[in-house]
Amino acid sequence: MSMAYDVVAIGSGHNGLVAAAYLAAAGRKVLVLERNAWFGGGVVTRELTVQGFKHDQHSVGHIFIQANPLIRNDELGLISKYGLKYIYPEVPLISVFDDGTTLSLYRDRQRNYQELAKFSQRDAEAYLKFSEIAAHYLPMLIGTLYSAPVPMGAQFAMMDQSPEGREMFATMMKSSWEIITDWFEHEKTRLHFARMVGENLASPEELGSGISLFMFLGFMEKYGIGIPVGGSGALTAALIRCIEDHGGEVISEVDVSIIETKAGRASAVLTHDGRRFEAKDAVIGGIHPHLLRGYLHEAGVAPHVFERAERTTTSPCACITIHASLQEKLQFKAGNHVDKAAFIELLPVSIARFRRSFDDVRYGELPKDPLLALASPTNIDPSRAPMGKATMHAWAYVPFEVDGRPAAYWDEIKEAYADRLLERMSPYFHNLSSNLIIGRHVDTPLDMQRTSPSFQRGDLHGIAGHQHQFGAHRPTPDLGRNTVPGVDRLYLVGPFQHPGGGVFGAGRAAAMRVFDDLKMNFSQFNKA
Ligand SMILES: Cc1cc2nc3c(=O)[nH]c(=O)nc-3n(C[C@H](O)[C@H](O)[C@H](O)COP(=O)(O)OP(=O)(O)OC[C@H]3O[C@@H](n4cnc5c(N)ncnc54)[C@H](O)[C@@H]3O)c2cc1C
Repeated sequence: MSMAYDVVAIGSGHNGLVAAAYLAAAGRKVLVLERNAWFGGGVVTRELTVQGFKHDQHSVGHIFIQANPLIRNDELGLISKYGLKYIYPEVPLISVFDDGTTLSLYRDRQRNYQELAKFSQRDAEAYLKFSEIAAHYLPMLIGTLYSAPVPMGAQFAMMDQSPEGREMFATMMKSSWEIITDWFEHEKTRLHFARMVGENLASPEELGSGISLFMFLGFMEKYGIGIPVGGSGALTAALIRCIEDHGGEVISEVDVSIIETKAGRASAVLTHDGRRFEAKDAVIGGIHPHLLRGYLHEAGVAPHVFERAERTTTSPCACITIHASLQEKLQFKAGNHVDKAAFIELLPVSIARFRRSFDDVRYGELPKDPLLALASPTNIDPSRAPMGKATMHAWAYVPFEVDGRPAAYWDEIKEAYADRLLERMSPYFHNLSSNLIIGRHVDTPLDMQRTSPSFQRGDLHGIAGHQHQFGAHRPTPDLGRNTVPGVDRLYLVGPFQHPGGGVFGAGRAAAMRVFDDLKMNFSQFNKA
């Protein structure tokens, strides 16, 4: 059986959907194929525990998509026409220390000044200067995020032209820890910012993590964290409505096995159940670099392209998540003000313990002090649970292979390890006990790889954000422009492509490339 479309997208992750939606809106006949029984990949909301409780299985907060013209200018009408609505909490993130004190990160600079002054007047003053620099960098950073990356050599040459560019280059090469300790003196301030950067799946001590500190702070002040009403999957739902409204189709439980090529051009996809979908103009592939060879083994791609792709490195920080439906809302001992925050970091007041936790993960061990964080989305959007009830989404960093054992070991230990994490969390709350929990669902790094092949080895960002896998070299220099050398009209999307993991709406850059190749006019969406 063979069916013909202009464009076929492999995978209904938000990036594939974004690319497909632009093409559908421009009049192409689009088909999106998803192997799971549900849509959205990492942008999904499901009743994972008990009926009536909606859980964001993966992403919770949509941060970096907020500056994307897709959302900022509502280029496809996701907000005005297709029902997407964001809430922007005034406190995107809070650090709750084990001595009962807290440090909130507000969207408002002056309030952050007051917060930091609780612990150090000097840090509060430094923050004003620091956030000024972050705000200054922000437009430059945003300028690089939502279109094809500039070639690496040109980017560095450009930065080398001015003192400001050279300063930014140095910031990019440094670790965020180096920058934090340079600017801030108090242990809690340092922990607060280091944990914030750590949300990027990297130890703050990793060289090259410096710029993410400025980027995160710049985004927090200007855009905050967007929490979609109804759940993370509301973005997926809006994208699907947009595609269908333009005559496209999005189908579940279709697992693509091969990309067929004809005369060096992607021409169709074949599925595991023997179907064939012809793609006259383009194939969009949410294909992890480790898996690319399997889809294209007869396409005549140069072996080094696959070899380099297979050598891309994942982050040592994989993730375990606990989703719980709760009898009532969580009661923090630190006070009700914690409820206002989107992301809540639970931290020991010890830099040594904090730093060692990342080291434990790097050595393949379960950390002695788990790096725990959580969100309680019902505090911000009560529509996700029956009245008076609540949800919790907790996460911690762990290795993919524990103590050198195969990843399948996670299937044996996951419930017991989740119990251990909940025990570690409970001293922060008045009411976190087994009586509070109606139902729970635990995802290990192996489960994440099973739910989406983008999350190889439990890496939420597909591959690590190391400098050699950055910009036009992400995932490799061969594949960094969303295309595969030797195969025309195949466009890669995923967290392993520029600009990296997270809800960025990066499928827009892939769509721009397709538009270019098909001599279509992308500026029709320009509403700026
Ligand atoms: C636990 C967790 C928490 C996270 N939290 C956040 C957060 O709060 N904020 C944030 O910004 N980011 C977060 N992320 C990261 C974010 O979710 C991902 O980076 C993002 O969703 C990736 O989107 P994508 O479309 O590129 O890929 P994916 O979402 O992985 O989508 C790929 C899709 O393709 C499908 N697919 C793959 N191969 C095939 C095939 N052969 N045939 C058919 N279908 C196929 C997959 O099933 C999947 O649905 C989190 C991720 C995880 C796992």
